[in-house]
Parts: sequence; structure tokens; C-alpha cells
Amino acid sequence: MSESVRVRFAPSPTGPLHIGGVRTALYNYLFARQNGGKMILRIEDTDSQRFVPGAEEYINEALEWLGIGVDEGVRQGGPYGPYKQSERRDIYRRHVQDLLDKGMAYYAFDTAEELEQKRAQVANFQYDASTRGSMRNSLTLPAEEVKRLIDEGHKYVVRFKIEPGRVVEVNDLLRGKVSIKSDVLDDKVLYKSADDLPTYHLANIVDDHLMRITHVIRGEEWLPSAPLHVLLYEAFGWADTMPAFVHLPLLLKPDGKGKLSKRDGDRLGFPVFPLEWHDPKSGVVSAGYRESGYLPQAVVNFLALLGWNPGDDSEMMDVDTLIQKFSFAHCSRSGAKFAFEKGKWFNHTYLQQTSDEELATLFIPVLEANGVDAGRFGLAYIAKAVSMVKSRINFVADLWPNARFFFVAPTEYEAKSVKKRWSDQMPRIMSELIDVLRALPSFASADAEPVVLKWIEDNGYHLGNVMNAFRLAVVGECKGPHMFDITELLGVEETVKRIKKAIDNIEIPAPQQ
Ligand code: GLU
Repeated sequence: MSESVRVRFAPSPTGPLHIGGVRTALYNYLFARQNGGKMILRIEDTDSQRFVPGAEEYINEALEWLGIGVDEGVRQGGPYGPYKQSERRDIYRRHVQDLLDKGMAYYAFDTAEELEQKRAQVANFQYDASTRGSMRNSLTLPAEEVKRLIDEGHKYVVRFKIEPGRVVEVNDLLRGKVSIKSDVLDDKVLYKSADDLPTYHLANIVDDHLMRITHVIRGEEWLPSAPLHVLLYEAFGWADTMPAFVHLPLLLKPDGKGKLSKRDGDRLGFPVFPLEWHDPKSGVVSAGYRESGYLPQAVVNFLALLGWNPGDDSEMMDVDTLIQKFSFAHCSRSGAKFAFEKGKWFNHTYLQQTSDEELATLFIPVLEANGVDAGRFGLAYIAKAVSMVKSRINFVADLWPNARFFFVAPTEYEAKSVKKRWSDQMPRIMSELIDVLRALPSFASADAEPVVLKWIEDNGYHLGNVMNAFRLAVVGECKGPHMFDITELLGVEETVKRIKKAIDNIEIPAPQQ
């Protein structure tokens, strides 16, 4: 590649970034890094009607959380700024003028009502070569009339004059050459005098050119716009710097057919946004991957595989591996089912690879939220507790139900286990157990276990009943990690205290008939 790779992620701040947009950003990033190129973040905010406050900050925060680094952008600056389209009005005005001067665009004065009327009269009306001659525009009106209308401040748009009879070719790296007849295209609006802003198409092309973009990597939903973009590049005389296009496959529903939507997330219980989003208008809060307890590296790994595969069967890949392995040759053209269960699996697996200390640090806010004074226990204690239950969790928040008893003594005892294990003999046996535990020279799991088991055997007690009653007293239910690992961490005093409390509080169930 003679010129170095420059890609852009160009979201419109019209709401929270959808998870599909995140995947687009990620593929741009992977491709840029792989080629030692630059990743540009351009904010396409020319549609003032759809602007949503907070959306731009959200985009920045989401990319930052995921580690999708940006080289040039509103925050980063760079040699081709400004990177926000609403700050580039002069540039667009000049380029619109250029097309007008060349006769490749024209002014159109048709009002919304006039257009409406036409649509009612003519079936499948399209503003194009076949109809423009009967509309109110600078091709049909005398020059003085056009000048007068503009001078008097009448609202107008500038339309791109698309000539029929041409075959437009889009070179898509995934799909090969996509050809389309120019006859089917309409004379797209490029600029609106009403808000003195260009439309998406014009701004997008002008900026891709001026920002020296080499590859346009975006969602499949933009494929229909690509022929127009090719024609615009040509009209400006930039055909030799035309970027390569990559239209990524859609993300599909996890079940059934069709595009992934927010409703699928609500229905099946997974977020479709990277971060939680508080809608400024409706106040509705939508779940985010971050707040749902996903690790950013798990989300990145999961998303990378939705539409691309490494060509072998590797699944767990950190970002450096992804950068190294990524290739358009292994991107699929057909939609990718959003297998959110796989996302959970990735998170589980990444959590297993996270150190106990790191997990403990992530767990502290959860502990605090549940009223536990984490400082009283200390990081080493929390990390030990985490190490014993982490194999059972998919999310950091799952640590709480699984490790709660390390921080709070049980206040209730699982009824069915009480019924099964807490016979009228049990208070006495548990009192003996207290003496055995107190007499232990070492409370370490490996030292305590054989002594307790021998005491059970020597007395002819039922192993299952005694051990389960012991667990019930200490944990509150009959499940959890290895019993003597639990008591080692709790320490002899806390263990004994819990057994005493159980003796005092568990009611002996009536004998079963
Ligand atoms: N502003 C468009 C969007 O919101 C950009 C599409 C493109 O990448 O060309 O996705």
C-alpha cells in the first residue's frame, strides 16, 4: 500500500452508540493498528433535527472503555480538523459551490407541499432526470428568477445532477465489484439553505477525501449509498483517491430472522449498548455492557468474532492477537447472529483469567452496595473469598450471592436442609464439634479436615449429616466451596460463633412420619 492506511469511524450523535456501531469502530481500529495506520473519529452532526445531547460524550466514553484508541478526533485533534462536521460549514459551502459551478448540481426551490403534490400525482415519483425538467429548479427557471429567489431568501436545496445511462461500480473488499445503473438513483439533496448545512452524503464524501481516508469500513446499511458516493468522488475530480469500501454484515437477532434490535435485548435479557444510556428526553434507562458487569476485553473479543473469524479455531484472543490476525478475507458477507450466550461465556472465561486481587477490587463496590464495610476485611481476605467462588460466576455481580457468607453470617437457614439434617441430636453434636475445632493446633484446611473427619468416624456419626449441618450453620445453605477452605478463611472465632448461633436459632424440625 503506497499511502498509509487511514480509516474513520463516523457516527452521528443521534443517540447511544448501538453495539453494531461498536463492532464497526472495532474493525476500523483493528485494521488501522494492523497496518500502522490512523484511526479517525469524525462526528457527523449535520442533521440538527436528530441531534441528541450527551450522545457525543457517550461515544467517546464507550470507545475509551473498550480500549478502541482514536488517533485523530475532536478530543485528540489532528492535522485534518475540525473533526466535527457542524464546525466545517465553510468547507462544505465551498464544495457545494464547486459542483454548482461545474453544472453537476443545481438549485431546487420546490416546497414540501409541491413535492407532496407531485408524489400524489406521479406513482413512484423520484426527483431525477425524468422529472427534474418539470420541477422548480435552476435547470428550468430563468437565471434572473433563480438569482431573485435566492436573494429574497427563499428556501432552497442543492441537488446532485445524476446522469442516467451509466453503470456505477463500487469496489467492495468483501463483496467484490457491486454494479448499479445510475438510472435508479435520484438527484440526492446535498445541501439545505434552511439550516445552512450539507446532508450526510456531501459532508461524508468531502471529509473522507479531505481527511485522506483510504478505507471506508461501515455497516451494510450504507451499501445503497455507496454508488452515490462513488459518483460524488468522480464529480469532484477525486476518483484517483477513491477509498476502498467494506460494508460489514448486519448483526442479526439471536433467534429467528432479521436485524438485531433493542427489543431483542429487552426480550432475551442482554444489553445492545456498550454503556448504560439515560435517554435525556424520555428518562428511559437502557442497559449497558459495562454496567451489566462485562469486562471490556470480553466484549471486544466477542464482537470481533461477529462477522469475522481468525481462520482457525482460536476463540480467546486479546486485542493484540486480534490486531495481528484480523483480515477482510475472513470477514463474512452474510449477517452474524448475535449469540449473546457466547458473550456471557467470554466474560466468564475472561473473569477466570483475571487475578483474584483484580477481581477483589472490582468486587469492593458490590460489597459496599450491599452494606459490607470492605475495609474491615481487607483486600487479601476478599481476594481469598473470590478465589473460592470465581469458577461459578459469569459477572462480577455474581460474586455477591456466591461469596456473601464470607462477609455476613447467615440469618436464615435453608428450610429443606434443616428438615433433612438438623435432628434433635444435632445441637449436641455441633457443641462437640466446637470443642474439636477449638482444640485444633492449626485451623488450616488441610490440617483441620482429617481431625474433624476422624472425630466423626470415631463417634460413629453420619458423615453426610454432620458435615451438612456444619455447613448449614456456617453458610446458611448446603452448597458452596470446600467446607474447610471456608472455615480457614473465616477463622476459628467466626466459625465457632456461627455454630453457636445456629444451635441457638435453628428450630429442631418435628420428626418425619
Ligand atoms: N454518519 C453515518 C453513521 O451514522 C456514517 C456512515 C458512514 O460510515 O459512512 O453511521
